[in-house]
Amino acid sequence: MNAAAAIALALLGACGTAFYACFAPTSQLLGRSLVRGPAKDQQVALTFDDGPASPFTEQILDILHETGVSATFFVCGKNAARYPDTLRRIREEGHTIGNHTYTHPFLWFKSRSRMASEIDRTQDVIEQLVGLRPKLFRPPYGIRWFGLFPLLRERRMTDVQWSDAGFDWVAGNSPEEVIRRSLAKLRAGSILLLHDGREPRPPEHVDASVTVAALPAIIEGVWKKGLSFVSVEDFLPSDGQVS
Ligand SMILES: [Zn+2]
Repeated sequence: MNAAAAIALALLGACGTAFYACFAPTSQLLGRSLVRGPAKDQQVALTFDDGPASPFTEQILDILHETGVSATFFVCGKNAARYPDTLRRIREEGHTIGNHTYTHPFLWFKSRSRMASEIDRTQDVIEQLVGLRPKLFRPPYGIRWFGLFPLLRERRMTDVQWSDAGFDWVAGNSPEEVIRRSLAKLRAGSILLLHDGREPRPPEHVDASVTVAALPAIIEGVWKKGLSFVSVEDFLPSDGQVS
């Protein structure tokens, strides 16, 4: 191999590693993320991203209430500001609220100050509405970027990714397909990704009815595996932080 080919190969390898570090939901290369909980307790965590989004978030809350299941909602600040009563209901019914940025941007090539503003504006609106600043963060599309983890550490926040997904964001997926994909590999310690909203669509184009239709059978399927539901916060180590 000549020098040019060796350099090209090294660059390709570096790009591949950087791509994996930023884009693979389970990567730990840029910083420590919570991807799954301990297997020993026979518990899983349900997570809903992109809301609040009326009436879907309320319909999901109704199902969670009827079944006595706790979940974690990673909300966008702009949606919390739009649906303040829904955010308050999430909190009042005992679910955990996490930060999913204000405007749901891709974080790649974003400056540190832009990422900080996305996080802090969301923390501020959530605190104004329900009186707490979330400890959990999930980046849009699961994409981490250089500089994100120092920001999270300064704020004592933990990045939460997922181990399992229902692919409810894919247009055309039926409730049956979402149920199948949600349960296919689900096991003790799993963090399951679902959506009560549909970023980046404008509110009038959001339709999370597939997720609502799939949820009762997903809950039933988890119980049939002998597992129960907890908040993602219950998966954190005892010092409360991963990153
Ligand atoms: Zn999202």
